[in-house]
Amino acid sequence: MSLEGQVALVTGASRGIGRAICVALAEQGAQVFAAARSTDAVQAWGRALPELAGRIAPVALDVTQRAAIDRTIDEIIERRERLDIVVNNAGITRDGLLMNMEDDQFEDVLTTNLRGAFWITRAASRHMVRARRGRIINISSISGIAGNAGQANYAAAKAGLIGLSKSVAKELGKRGVTCNVVAPGFIETDMTDVLPEKLKEQVRQHVPLQRFGQPHEVAALVAFLAGPGAAYITGQVFAVDGGLHT
Ligand code: NAP
Repeated sequence: MSLEGQVALVTGASRGIGRAICVALAEQGAQVFAAARSTDAVQAWGRALPELAGRIAPVALDVTQRAAIDRTIDEIIERRERLDIVVNNAGITRDGLLMNMEDDQFEDVLTTNLRGAFWITRAASRHMVRARRGRIINISSISGIAGNAGQANYAAAKAGLIGLSKSVAKELGKRGVTCNVVAPGFIETDMTDVLPEKLKEQVRQHVPLQRFGQPHEVAALVAFLAGPGAAYITGQVFAVDGGLHT
């Protein structure tokens, strides 16, 4: 197991892609702090995976709360004396056309999807730099690369995450910390479940692989980027989108 002995923090771990990332990292031997607004949700899916029980620890964390982020990361360091892997996965959508978009619709998405990742990355990087070791993986979106009608807020946040990640890669590379981005296309989770069936069918027809992706197919890349095989990769953006954006 390539992540044996390593400690990971994954945000937005209650469901969807975050849950799949926790499982993939734990399967590789990492001790995973599965951070979610509701630890009940993590406990519930954790019960269905008894073989990973010792490797997944639920922690309560809302990524819009800076003090809680700093405290959580300090507590992980106190308990485990290391933090090797951080995955900024928590995210929301509040879609709408630009001309009708309310200020809070824009700000809420930026606050959760970008500022939360900034706060977590800043707090974690202080420990990683001291340890001269760390992997930061940020979950962006194809929308952040290509833009998307109805998602000016979301695309701005996800593009911001790419800029943040590339800057972190340049700043922290010399201290042994890498930072990469995974940009999913359409993945079957609650986030895409709410889309109208007609739109989903149109998307499927445009995806060269002719289907939506599964959360574990995003998680597999995250686990690779966290592992020894990715030691010389930093500042990169990897799409997991069935070929949608080429
Ligand atoms: P999801 O099923 O809607 O899950 C979103 C996760 O983010 C949930 O765990 C949610 O927690 C958490 N979250 C939201 N606000 C939070 C906050 N303030 N603090 C902490 N956690 C918070 O979506 P998903 O598809 O798994 O998305 C995961 C990531 O992938 C997101 O960043 C999303 O933008 C990105 N992504 C998804 C797709 C896709 O097609 N699904 C495509 C591109 C990118 P609660 O359960 O507490 O709400």
